[in-house]
Amino acid sequence: MKEIRIDNIKKDIVIVAKDRSKRPIDKVVSPQDEPTLEYEEKCPFCRGNENYITKEKFKIEDKTGWLVKSVENKFPIVDNLPGEIYGLHEVMIDTYRHNGSFYDMSESEFENLFIMYKNRYTQLICDKKIEYVSIFKNFLRKSGASLAHPHSQIVSLSIVPPEIENQIDICKDYYDKNKKYLYDDIIKNEIEFGDRIINDGVYFLVIVPYATKFSGEVRIIFKEKIKFEKMNEKHIKELSKTFKKLFENLYKESGYNAFNLCVYTHPLKIECENLFNVHMDVIPRKYSFGGFELGTGMYVSSIDPGELAKKLKF
Ligand SMILES: [Zn+2]
Repeated sequence: MKEIRIDNIKKDIVIVAKDRSKRPIDKVVSPQDEPTLEYEEKCPFCRGNENYITKEKFKIEDKTGWLVKSVENKFPIVDNLPGEIYGLHEVMIDTYRHNGSFYDMSESEFENLFIMYKNRYTQLICDKKIEYVSIFKNFLRKSGASLAHPHSQIVSLSIVPPEIENQIDICKDYYDKNKKYLYDDIIKNEIEFGDRIINDGVYFLVIVPYATKFSGEVRIIFKEKIKFEKMNEKHIKELSKTFKKLFENLYKESGYNAFNLCVYTHPLKIECENLFNVHMDVIPRKYSFGGFELGTGMYVSSIDPGELAKKLKF
């Protein structure tokens, strides 16, 4: 028997077909090779190759040199020239280490990363023409990354992206119908149910959602209704600890795999502070979509969220 599930945050429609994970293709999927060297001569993002990139926007340093830095993207999605869409696009280098990935970064490396995310976000939202600032990460070619050195990206936009509009509309509808906030109910219900929880922290709830577009997505939900730029030292500390543990466990479970990280933040000019909670999705890119997904707008999930949550739990 097959089941239909709907993601309560995005309204994606998912057909649950657990036995499809037994397809023969699964046996030939192997993780990518991990880079072993800390420095790569031709990599523009490695420490020591600063001559490749001159337009630095932010960096954190210690006595050994820079640890993380944000630079203008040489090939931006948007720019500040006259046109139909306006914005800025920076590349945030996660660590100076070429072989340093989320799978092996230390807690203090994650702290520097999130301090950089917050700093760049806070700066980019100051521009009055900007409606939304998107933070994301593509890790390895299969996820859309063009360079191997671990990096994240931040893009400011003069429009509200449709996915954010969609999520805000879902929150509004929920409130109109129930006179309660969607995220309050999600957090309460997930904690009560318990099976899909990976970690229940002071400030963040980490779950394998009931239904998601890609099999095996993990969602990190801010428990408080704070805007991304309001994260303080305590939030950043817990978030860093959480990411370190989560990626350690993801590595144990499925190795050095491609993934995307998407950070969903409040749109800047729509009043929705109470309606919406910041959340982050870690999206594994083991498989790509086929014709069924592209042709129908429905997705097929082959995992049991409870079973995966149990394996990733900390
Ligand atoms: Zn590098």
